Amino acid sequence: TEITLEKIESIVKEKSVELLHLQFVDIEGILKNITITAQQLDDAVEGKIMIDGSSIKGFSPINKSDSYLLPDLNTFTVLPWTETEGYSEARFLCSVTNPDGSLFEGDTRNVLKKTVERAAEKGYSISVGPELEFFLFNTDENGYPTSELSDKGGYFEPSPKDLGEKVRIEIFKTLRAMGFTIEALHHEVAEGQHEINFKYADALTAADLATTYKWVVKTIASQYGLHATFMPKPVFGINGSGMHVNMSFFQDGENSFYDANDDLELSETAYSFIAGVLKNVKNFVAVTNPLVNSYKRLVPGYEAPCYLAWSASNRSALIRIPAKRGMATRVELRCPDPSSNPYLTFAVIAAAGLDGVEKGLKAPAPINEDIFHMTEDRREELGIDSLPGGLDAAIAELEAGEIGLKTLGEHVYSEYVAAKKEEWDNYRTTIHAWEIENYQYKF
Ligand code: GLN
Ligand code: MG
Ligand code: MG
Ligand code: MG
Repeated sequence: TEITLEKIESIVKEKSVELLHLQFVDIEGILKNITITAQQLDDAVEGKIMIDGSSIKGFSPINKSDSYLLPDLNTFTVLPWTETEGYSEARFLCSVTNPDGSLFEGDTRNVLKKTVERAAEKGYSISVGPELEFFLFNTDENGYPTSELSDKGGYFEPSPKDLGEKVRIEIFKTLRAMGFTIEALHHEVAEGQHEINFKYADALTAADLATTYKWVVKTIASQYGLHATFMPKPVFGINGSGMHVNMSFFQDGENSFYDANDDLELSETAYSFIAGVLKNVKNFVAVTNPLVNSYKRLVPGYEAPCYLAWSASNRSALIRIPAKRGMATRVELRCPDPSSNPYLTFAVIAAAGLDGVEKGLKAPAPINEDIFHMTEDRREELGIDSLPGGLDAAIAELEAGEIGLKTLGEHVYSEYVAAKKEEWDNYRTTIHAWEIENYQYKF
């Protein structure tokens, strides 16, 4: 279902769209935009709107900084919260191009496009269904987040206990109006924590949806005086926020992960995908879990994984196979968190899975015991390895492996590693509140 320029022009007229936001993401997946008037639609669609790449994190060096935005027509949507009588605003997500019109290699959306093409050469199209969790915090008189969670609800708790329900439903209505196919919304395990699920899509669309979802959640929350955060572990001692990534490879319209004749109804392709992810995950976790804070979520006991194992049902495992089969057969990777750049996250997971499929790797036996409560000896006996314990170790693994450079390409890879090293160094040398609390008086 490709949308045409004529269709967009008719919506612009019908909805009195006056302003168009041309959006794109930086290397961290942070949304950026330039706003133009609707009269410039034709120029915009021809890729004539210029930006200065030198001020965008991970983009161009200052001496060749002119970049252009190429709107993806399929991402056109009117913004429901701007609609009033005779006025509205719309947006496009864009790819970034060089002055000669070629795709700019520093744009992470283009990185994912390349991975999608690589999979297509092998006959696969990549389906992705991400689940993004978030927290709602109360704000102060200036609109900045406080440390107070917006409600005390728990898993699946209904209103009136769940003060977040009102906001959650408003987010649902907004996303639906923007073309999302929403499947479910619910309160998550932690206080103030929520999740809204949308239907899986091809990898690029899914990354666009994830990016849009984060923006809409934040926008609507702020209208209710709340701050929505996708920070992975905002509060010590309770669950953090994950972005489980459900993925499958389709071939000729069929789900290539499904095999009715197997014990678990999984195909050789699915097992090899699992093996490829397990083989590469330590080397790409710096991408799927990009922050210092990400590794404070990946600790035992909070439904977030830390050990390298897979299982059909086990929520303490890194990879779970949700019960659905047939067209819905998929592999759920549970380590990614929603602070990651979805374009890069989906690219590295798909590349890892593809590596397993291309090499015909065999998956190890599934682990159905609770790994959180296993002794170290038992884990060793079963050959269960762990994820890196911190961002520094994760960066070292990224540099030690091949998957990062191969998937991200030279430009994004080197910018990414440099940015992450700087982030770690800043954290490492900063004196944190915990240190003052534990050391200042005592020593
Ligand atoms: N919040 C958990 C995480 O960090 C996931 C909980 C769930 O969805 N069952 O991944
Ligand atoms: Mg979920
Ligand atoms: Mg969840
Ligand atoms: Mg899940």
